[in-house]
Formats: sequence, structure tokens, C-alpha cells
Amino acid sequence: MAGIYISWPFCAQKCTYCNFASGVQPKGLEERYLAALKLEIAKANLSDYGDTLYLGGGTPSGMEPPAIDQLAASLPNTWREATLEAAPGSLTPERVRAWLRLGIDRVSLGVQSFVRAELARTGRKHDAATVERDVALLRAEGIHKINLDLIAGLPGQTAESWQSSLDALAAHNVPHASVYMLEVDDDSRLGSEILLGGKRYGAFDVPGDDQIATFYETAVEQFERHGIHRYEISNFARPGAESLHNLKYWHREPYLGFGSDAHSFDGTTRWQNVETAVDYVAKSEAGESFRAESSCPDPIEEKFFVGLRLTEGVNPDASDWLRYGPALERHLSTGMMERADGRLRLTSRGIMVSNEIFQEFLPA
Ligand code: SF4
Repeated sequence: MAGIYISWPFCAQKCTYCNFASGVQPKGLEERYLAALKLEIAKANLSDYGDTLYLGGGTPSGMEPPAIDQLAASLPNTWREATLEAAPGSLTPERVRAWLRLGIDRVSLGVQSFVRAELARTGRKHDAATVERDVALLRAEGIHKINLDLIAGLPGQTAESWQSSLDALAAHNVPHASVYMLEVDDDSRLGSEILLGGKRYGAFDVPGDDQIATFYETAVEQFERHGIHRYEISNFARPGAESLHNLKYWHREPYLGFGSDAHSFDGTTRWQNVETAVDYVAKSEAGESFRAESSCPDPIEEKFFVGLRLTEGVNPDASDWLRYGPALERHLSTGMMERADGRLRLTSRGIMVSNEIFQEFLPA
């Protein structure tokens, strides 16, 4: 069965590092967006879909209970796993109980750092005590599948501050963690400032690439000691606690996305909705299609550049070796890939240059 992704692109602030199409939206847009979302979901006829749900964004944890209940009325409620992305500090008992009515059994908290000075520079308002309160609230309401996100490479991050975030994360004893390396591109304010050589948002104080790589490797080693294993480049879990929904992306299984900037895949075609919430609402109110673009990617290319993200790697067949043999042999001989039980996967060294390796499986 397919996964269902729903985008809620509303946030209390725009974080400096964020390159998503989400943030502070025009006043009064939430209600119209919810109406558009319900319309898009109703048109899709989800009776054959939906064993996993991922409510992301944005900050869906900022939705008030009546809005969550309206969404719940539009959706099936037979999830094998239903995740909601939450910003620390936005949880209340009433909101968490509304999530339970929607079937949410897994919450991903965007902690990013446990160090107040690092968070303050990004625009985030929470601190370590906020996260502690939120985790306790989730557990008290019966949600134990909790993911905590960290970002390696925030301005001002040092080996000591990174270690204190890793220690704080370990103390929460959650079954899942994610570590993302800071992305530097034009789509975030911090990324643009770094590219321009400026000083705003702490751009002058971003750790170097080697240091970020060391932060990442330290996290991998320490999570492993706590029984949290890497199963995808950025994702770590106790056995059995891997995200079923996100595994669909890496296994190239179908999923349907609803809302602005949501992506979908039916096994052959990929498509994407219009990027901004304003455009999404305008399309809905004009009775027009939400779809912005679609493509039919080469499944063999995707098998490698999506599948190699996973620790389980990929299982090349004879035609794959014919097509990619020289590149695969080179990566094996230089120690960027390794063979295990007939499968190929990236080594720790290969993961550090994974973006360059993935490029080789894309059309020139
Ligand atoms: S990082 Fe999260 S909370 Fe911050 S602007 Fe982006 S989506 Fe919103």
C-alpha cells in the first residue's frame, strides 16, 4: 500500500537554515489552506491507499485540535504507522490528544540542537528543558515512538557543544534519531549568506566541512553504542523502530502527497504540487490542478542513487553491472563501497562523499 504525506507549511518563524517552502504565512491563509487540502484528499479516493501517514511541513504541531479533527474526518484511520513532525514548544495535552484521534503513533521532534546559543541564532525559541517537557508529555499520552532531529554544522557548533547535544539526546532514550548536515544553498537565508561570504545569521562561524564530517561520525559511533543503528545516511533506529513511511521513499514504493510542495510517486511517475501555500490555495479556489511538474525517472538510476542511501544497500543484477560496472568497481577498489551478501553499499568513507557518488547514477 502507498504512504500518505500531508504538508502543513505554517511556522511560527522562518528558521535561518531552512530551505523548505514553509514559514510564516499570510494571515487568514490557514483556514483556506485546510479547505484546499480536504478537497485534494477527497478527490484522490484513498480507500486503496494509506498504510502509513506522515504529517510534515512546516509545523503541523501548530495545528489547533479542530483543524486536526477536520483532517482526521477526511482520512482513513488504519495506519501501520502515522508520524507527525513537531516543533519543540508547540505541544499541549489537547493537541497531542487530537493527534491520537488522527491515529498518530509516532512524533518527530525538530530539536536541531540542545544548546541554547546555537538555537537562538537559528531563530528557534526552545531549549533543552522544552524538549524534556515535550518528550515527557508524549510518553504520558502514550506516544513512545519518538524521533529527535539534530543538525550538524550550525553556526558556533564546536566538538564540545556537539557532544553535549549527543549526550542530551542519549539521555532521552528514544528509539529513533536523525542527523542532518547543514545544507548550504540559496534557498535558506543562512545558506545564501555563507555563499555570499557574509556575516549575518552566524555565517562566519559555521564549522568547516571536515569538522562537520567528524561531528557526523561521532554521532554514528555513539548512537551505535546506545543500540541505535544507522539504517539510512541521516537516520538511526533501534531494530524495529525504523520509519516505515520514510523507508517507502528509499525502497521506491508508492506514496501520495497532499498540500503545497508535496511530492508523489505511483511506481512509475513522480509529480509535485505547486510550491507555495498561496499558490496552492489559489489553484484550489480557481478549480485548477495543483500539479506543478511530473516526470518518469529511470528506475535503474533511482535504484542506485536512492537505494545507496540505505545501509542495506542495493542488489545489482547483470544488466546493472553492464551499465555501471566501471563506476561500481572503482568505488569498490577505492573503499567507497563494499560488498556484503551479494549487495553493494556505501562504506563510512563513501557516505562522506555520497552526493558526488550519487551524481554518477544520474544522466549527464
Ligand atoms: S525549519 Fe521547520 S520550523 Fe523552521 S521554518 Fe523550516 S519548516 Fe518551519
